[in-house]
Amino acid sequence: MTQRWLSDLRGEIDTLNLDILRLLQRRAEVVLEIAAIKRRENLDSYEPSREEEMLRTLAAAPSGPFGADEIREIFRAIFHASLDIQNRERTRAMRTRQRGLVPPGGIRVRDVAVGAGQPVLFVGPCSVETPQQMDTIAAAIAALPGAKIFRAGAYKPRTNPYSFQGLREDGLQLLRATARRYGLPTVTEVLDTSTLDVVAEHADMLQVGARNMYNTELLKALGKVDKPVLLKRGFMATLDELLLSAEYILSNGNDAVVLCERGIRTFEPWTRNTLDLSAVALLKKETALPVIVDLSHALGRRDIMLPCARAALAVGADGLMLEVHDRPEHALSDGFQQLDLDEFSALVTGLGLAGATAPHPTAIRGPR
Ligand code: PEP
Ligand code: MN
Repeated sequence: MTQRWLSDLRGEIDTLNLDILRLLQRRAEVVLEIAAIKRRENLDSYEPSREEEMLRTLAAAPSGPFGADEIREIFRAIFHASLDIQNRERTRAMRTRQRGLVPPGGIRVRDVAVGAGQPVLFVGPCSVETPQQMDTIAAAIAALPGAKIFRAGAYKPRTNPYSFQGLREDGLQLLRATARRYGLPTVTEVLDTSTLDVVAEHADMLQVGARNMYNTELLKALGKVDKPVLLKRGFMATLDELLLSAEYILSNGNDAVVLCERGIRTFEPWTRNTLDLSAVALLKKETALPVIVDLSHALGRRDIMLPCARAALAVGADGLMLEVHDRPEHALSDGFQQLDLDEFSALVTGLGLAGATAPHPTAIRGPR
């Protein structure tokens, strides 16, 4: 008799479990419907006050053997799991992860297309210094084959406050004037929202440096600018964090984002940073955004550029960043890692980069 009772009750428990499971799954579906609405309306997915209110109501409801504390614990676990599935869905819905985001023509920086099949060199000195320095370097870059974007910092994010901080607006003007003479598009770093307008007025592409990858106000502002953005990975940033930073720009209206792996900080002192080539393969797999590799800041040395450049291209990089100077030993910043013009020319020859091609008609530039 006892045996019968027990098995009947167990049968009832099995049925109740399935009922609870059905209700939980239905609840999860409703949670996801709410999450989709919040995403559309740009609202926060997590609302602690709403959770507290639900817990108060449940703990006060007429109850059975479970006490208020146990009820709260059970429902907290349900809320927590619901938040997890919302985050999972949010990640899946990220613009950064959407496949058709970048057209076959890539992202256009004036007449150069990044991510359209042909590797692009982002090349120039670490900093804008003098008219003579800029002219000599630009002339050497323009003379070599391949698609190139002229880089040089006017606002420099130096670790040491006593180091050269850049020529600022004068540097921007010099960069633009030199680049125009040689028909090269430009990329330069924007440090903060207060100088964004002036940098955007002078440069063809705006660089977010490693130190600024987490500057969310700057990223949001870049989402509203009609210029492509080169987003560098922070020294200590995970790939998730890099993609979330890119998402700030994309979700604010600008899809023209190129990602840049520039080495991460590890325990290894033989290189300035550690070049993370698996990051390039993973970023190419997880997003449609073009990815380039900054060899100069990753390696901090010139002697192993060619094999590392080959490796970066082999793993799928859409371009390379290289610091080049006519007289590296006199450079005002990063002299030790800048290639001189002969080394640069030898590198381009060693890589066998082809001549420039016209951008694809469906290339994108600036915000949607
Ligand atoms: C740069 O490219 O000039 C620079 C400062 O690089 P990073 O932000 O990667 O250190
Ligand atoms: Mn530098």
